[in-house]
Amino acid sequence: MQSLRLNALHELFSSSKIQEVPPSKKITSFFGENVFDLKKAREFMSDEAYKSLLSSIKNQTKIDRKMGDQIAAALKGWAESKNVTHFTHWFQPLTGATAEKHDSFFTIKGDGTALEEFDGAALIQQEPDASSFPSGGIRATFEARGYTAWDPSSPPFIMEIGKGKTLCIPTIFVSYTGESLDAKTPLLKASVALEKAAVDVCQYFDKNITAVSPTLGWEQEYFVIDAAIASGRPDLVMTGRTVFGHAPAKGQQLEDHYFGAIPERVYSFMRDYEEEAYKLGIPLRTRHNEVAPSQFECAPIFEEVNLAVDHNLLLMDVMSRVAKRHNLVVLLHEKPFAKINGSGKHNNWSLATNTGVNLLAPGKTPKTNFMFLAFFVNIIKAVHDYSDLLRASIASAGNDHRLGANEAPPAIISIFIGKYLTNVLNEVEKRVGDNFDEQDEAMLKLDIHKSIPELMLDNTDRNRTSPFAFTGNKFEFRAVGSSENCAAPMTVLNTILSETLIQFKADVDALIENGEKKEIALMQIIQKYIVESKSVLFEGDGYSDAWEKEAERRGLPNIKTTPLALDAFMTEKSKKVFERNNIYTKIEIEARHEILLENYIKKIQIEARVIGDLASTYVLPAAIKYQNVLIKNIRGLKELGYDESNYTSQKQIVQKISEHINIINTGVKSMIEARKVANEIEETRAKAIAYCDDVKKYFDEIRYHVDKLELLIDDEYWGLPKYREMLFLR
Ligand code: ADP
Ligand code: MG
Repeated sequence: MQSLRLNALHELFSSSKIQEVPPSKKITSFFGENVFDLKKAREFMSDEAYKSLLSSIKNQTKIDRKMGDQIAAALKGWAESKNVTHFTHWFQPLTGATAEKHDSFFTIKGDGTALEEFDGAALIQQEPDASSFPSGGIRATFEARGYTAWDPSSPPFIMEIGKGKTLCIPTIFVSYTGESLDAKTPLLKASVALEKAAVDVCQYFDKNITAVSPTLGWEQEYFVIDAAIASGRPDLVMTGRTVFGHAPAKGQQLEDHYFGAIPERVYSFMRDYEEEAYKLGIPLRTRHNEVAPSQFECAPIFEEVNLAVDHNLLLMDVMSRVAKRHNLVVLLHEKPFAKINGSGKHNNWSLATNTGVNLLAPGKTPKTNFMFLAFFVNIIKAVHDYSDLLRASIASAGNDHRLGANEAPPAIISIFIGKYLTNVLNEVEKRVGDNFDEQDEAMLKLDIHKSIPELMLDNTDRNRTSPFAFTGNKFEFRAVGSSENCAAPMTVLNTILSETLIQFKADVDALIENGEKKEIALMQIIQKYIVESKSVLFEGDGYSDAWEKEAERRGLPNIKTTPLALDAFMTEKSKKVFERNNIYTKIEIEARHEILLENYIKKIQIEARVIGDLASTYVLPAAIKYQNVLIKNIRGLKELGYDESNYTSQKQIVQKISEHINIINTGVKSMIEARKVANEIEETRAKAIAYCDDVKKYFDEIRYHVDKLELLIDDEYWGLPKYREMLFLR
């Protein structure tokens, strides 16, 4: 039998793979058609119910049972008008994916009547039998059940899978005793905390600001490869990344992919998933090739953070499903292929007020500039003081390949703000000890608005090596992994800013109470914060060794692996900041820490098994087969009376193959032993560290020799699709 690899290649060349998609149409003509937005709510609801829904979205008020029934009836009416038969509570358990359990509207009453039913109770709360979702021990300790509860701030939507349609209701997921077991609950809490803290600070500058919400625009990177070829790679199927594979002769060195046209087959796939996304109200805006071959990116218009997070999760799901229709596979893993770029998910983040102001956009008047400066400096201080939490929020087995690994930049969190703002901060800082008076115009104006062109100029000359960069009117957190739920980093970012703003207000008020004028008090605290936190600012090459040394001198943390990065969650400082802002109780943060470690262990464990399996059942047999061919050849030449000089090369190859086989075999055996030892460890953190230090260390060594064999062995014997086939054929 031919290998899966050769079959896939035959198949790929035997027919055109471009899947026809319907012609494009105006996006506004169908955007959001599968979303129960306010316009549809208005249409399907009574005035009373609509008002109740609006108020619950705007002011987080509770919806009572009667209104719940009315809203549910409207939702059902709308869904049935679109031939929907089932509904589900759609939630984000801590597995990193989304979860759903479908129930039909269909029911049979006591008297045998069959009818379709959906009431307020079903809308507002459900009890999924979810005891197998990770809970970090919370549910074991307290109560075996968990429940999902409707989040009215994210609108219900219809998911179309094939010809089936399901009404999905975004929900939070909590334990029976109220501890959060998902990614959404803490995110919503962090938005509430940040809003309060930010509004309080805004009040110094503008009494009209009564609401502030964080905004997020994510940029999703991904790889797309042929499905048949991907299915020949058990490592991709099982772990999302290739554990073996020699780099192709041509990688990304020509940089031709980034600037090139989108290949037609992928283009057709993109149009298809974009259409699905538009129907779901996901405001996609850009699509383009990324740096590595077969790597792409898409980004939407930014939205309020909770909605943006839901939309990102939905999109990842939609992309993966639509890809199947095109016989393609989407790889969302942070590092599917060695030796070429990995994938990230830049989180563009800012703060929007009810008055339509972006708090991170330098303003047009002295007063708004002052407000901008206050928030800008508070963010720098927050990142400086809690960079360990930010690092922890993006830690995962996959992202370890992008932070601090061989081919990756160091895992240091620093901030890039550009030349112009660096000068502004230096200006402000120089005046330490000055007695500002209110007339000190230059100080208050800072002249930022006059220099906006200059700022934009600075902004185009961006530093692409910074993990956290100011890009003109937003910060861009770039170290987030491509497969991750943005809720985790967004929760931390919003929490630490909330905490810093609360402290800021307390510091300013203390000065004011001492008789200081408001403006001067603000300026003095801003100055103080600049001095305290400027060590986190870095404008140079974030990928250089020099920076790693410099950061160490500055005392910035540089934690390379997940098990250690996660320690940040467990410090007293962390527990305090999460508790004070009402994000996590001690129990919740401890549970999360446990879940993240367990997740890490499982990922490395699976990778280790896959490496062992593939080495033993794909690589070594191929090597031995080819070695036998060589041996036969040598024997034949000998028999025919040729002297040694005619088969020295063959003998050398035979020898080399044996050497690689031996090292691989020993490596696999030692790795299995290390796994056994690690599995005996009770304590989760110690076990995770053992997997990281003692098991994972064999991965690179085994791979090195497997990849060498790939270059030695007859192409026909090699069963695993090669990098050049995965990356360049479609
Ligand atoms: P890049 O050049 O890094 O690709 P873009 O200018 O294309 O960046 O924008 C990237 C993302 O930033 C988009 O999703 C965009 O909507 C988002 N973005 C722009 N302004 C804001 C903002 N104020 N808050 C949050 N995200 C924003
Ligand atoms: Mg970007």
